[in-house]
Order: sequence, then C-alpha cells, then structure tokens
Amino acid sequence: MKHDMVLTMLTSAHKDNTMPLPPDLSKPIFTLMPHLADRILCGKCAFCAEPLGEFTDELSKREYGISGMCQSCQDKTFGVLEEDNTFGMLEEE
Ligand SMILES: [Zn+2]
Repeated sequence: MKHDMVLTMLTSAHKDNTMPLPPDLSKPIFTLMPHLADRILCGKCAFCAEPLGEFTDELSKREYGISGMCQSCQDKTFGVLEEDNTFGMLEEE
C-alpha cells in the first residue's frame, strides 16, 4: 500500500521531468550503508559512484528512486528479467 502511494507520487510529480526523484535515504539499506546515501546526495549512482546518466524509461527512473542505481547498473543487475519483476527488488521493509 505504501509502495503504491510512493509510486503514484513519483509518476505524477515527475511525469515530464527528465531526472528521477532520489531514493528515500531513510530506507534501511542507506542506514546500513551510509556511503551509498552520500553518493545519492552527490547526484551519483549509489552502486558505481558514477554521475547519473540518462534513464531509458519511467521504470528505470522509478527503480532509481528505490535502489539508487543508475541505468547502467540496473541493466547489469536486472539484465533480461521481465520488467514487472525488476521493480522494487531491493525493497525490503
Ligand atoms: Zn551505477
């Protein structure tokens, strides 16, 4: 339920915006690994620490909003998985 609300906010507030919302830094993964949060705050990918590039679609932007992964990291991580299965993989609440 909460997840759906966040999703709705993301899509409605940023529909025509090229840059996605950053992840919620209060999530457990960022508490456990604060260096990831630092990267997000610097506008970088949480995983490879490279500056964020383009995202290919809305799904990728939303995934960034959850995991903080850039497009390239998402591609490596999720590969050829079905899109429906990629969203929220790191969501563990
Ligand atoms: Zn990356």
